[in-house]
Amino acid sequence: RRRRSRREAEEEKRKKFAALIEEVEQKFSTPTALLRGIADAMVEEMEHGLRADPHAPLKMLISYVDNLPTGDEHGLFYALDLGGTNFRVIRVQLGGREKRVVTQQYEEVSIPPHLMVGTSMELFDFIAAELEKFVKTEGDDFQLPEGRQRELGFTFSFPVHQTSISSGTLIKWTKGFSINGTVGEDVVAELSRAMERQGLDMKVSVLVNDTVGTLAGGRYVDNDVVAAVILGTGTNAAYVEHANAIPKWNGLLPRSGNMVINMEWGNFKTERLPRSEYDSALDFESLNPGEQVLFILSVYFQLYVGLKEFWFSVPQIYEKMISGLYLGEIVRRILLKLAHDASLFGDVVPPKLEQLFILRTPDMSAMHHDTSHDLKHLGAKLKDILGVADASLEARYITLHICDLVAERAARLAASGIYGILKKLGRDRVPSDGSQKQRTVIALDGGLYEHYKKFSACLEATLADLLGEEAASSVVVMLANDGSGIGAALLAASHSQYAGVE
Ligand code: BGC
Ligand code: MG
Repeated sequence: RRRRSRREAEEEKRKKFAALIEEVEQKFSTPTALLRGIADAMVEEMEHGLRADPHAPLKMLISYVDNLPTGDEHGLFYALDLGGTNFRVIRVQLGGREKRVVTQQYEEVSIPPHLMVGTSMELFDFIAAELEKFVKTEGDDFQLPEGRQRELGFTFSFPVHQTSISSGTLIKWTKGFSINGTVGEDVVAELSRAMERQGLDMKVSVLVNDTVGTLAGGRYVDNDVVAAVILGTGTNAAYVEHANAIPKWNGLLPRSGNMVINMEWGNFKTERLPRSEYDSALDFESLNPGEQVLFILSVYFQLYVGLKEFWFSVPQIYEKMISGLYLGEIVRRILLKLAHDASLFGDVVPPKLEQLFILRTPDMSAMHHDTSHDLKHLGAKLKDILGVADASLEARYITLHICDLVAERAARLAASGIYGILKKLGRDRVPSDGSQKQRTVIALDGGLYEHYKKFSACLEATLADLLGEEAASSVVVMLANDGSGIGAALLAASHSQYAGVE
């Protein structure tokens, strides 16, 4: 009798478990029809943002970049790429159409975590000091004509309201940065002052978002690049828009007729996005304390104004479902729930599993790519990172499955965003007049895309599926490895104070 009831208990547990997993599967599913709806919503919101509606979640920021590199760029230029946990300093000697990039050098410096939450001045002083050290190592391979000032392209990967090609104010921090006193300030002025304090004589010629830099860097190597997408710590996209399709642009019509738009798509939201309780909980415990205040205010607001307004005030919804800073954290939250409610890792919940952001996306990726038959690498990660002493084979397989669900949802959502951009550009279908479809290239960069193979494979397959065979055959996704720095240097060249002077 005892045996039998134990078996019954086992059976019960198994059922409960299966139901829980099924629930997660269902919440994380993104059928193709849903993705099509999300792409349509993306197109709508793009139009919305181009009209400068303050309620539009997509800011559709005007970059002031109306010309992309041609290949004629010439001279010595620097770039500074700040946007994640590292920043890069780059110098490049450009040799014009024939010689192209003659030499380039770069250095990568990791940002001490305390500077990500310190003061603006500390951060910029640190960066300027590193830049100054780098400039000192400039050798004979690089040539600056007599009497000229060094020039720099500044890639700053946060939402900025540009006031010109070389100035702009920070709208908000994202990706875990939370520095007092920078929002609303001109980041070029901040950097320039820090360079002065350092005694470094250099002019910031352009200020660009990393997506815009990547678009410029991509265009330099392939003339058919029309959009760039970053999938890294954060996520975003930029693309070439017709200036006359931007109602809020009230400057002169650029000669090219075009204007690069920084979408800030991380802030995209639509009720169609498949949100789970794990996503909402992540919002609530968002890294950015400023956003937390916003969240509390919006809960308050919700009581009076209703759900719709509340939904609109939650920041970076799309980014939190897609990008590298968050995927591991979503997996951790699901595993924690399964450990609590269904003893996934035995009777006690491993305490480390409760720690916010302890599971980083690169570790999730390593687990997800374990191909050993007994998932021993995954098991080792569970032990090292989450303190799970001895995960059963079943628990390891379930962990793998959860990684799959979370990564796949992210990749499919990102693909639907790209498909939305192609739709906006009218490049999602074969022309009905029988004319040849234009080749379309999208430059992609970011650690998530570059290193998380299952993610990138799923993204590409989903995009092809959305486009259909015929249209997909003329759309190319290109890895633009670190194109954002070189892109900024190229734009610094075409916007040089000496441009046209020989
Ligand atoms: C920022 C964007 C940036 C993206 C990728 C987002 O968090 O808001 O400006 O382009 O990350 O780095
Ligand atoms: Mg970057």
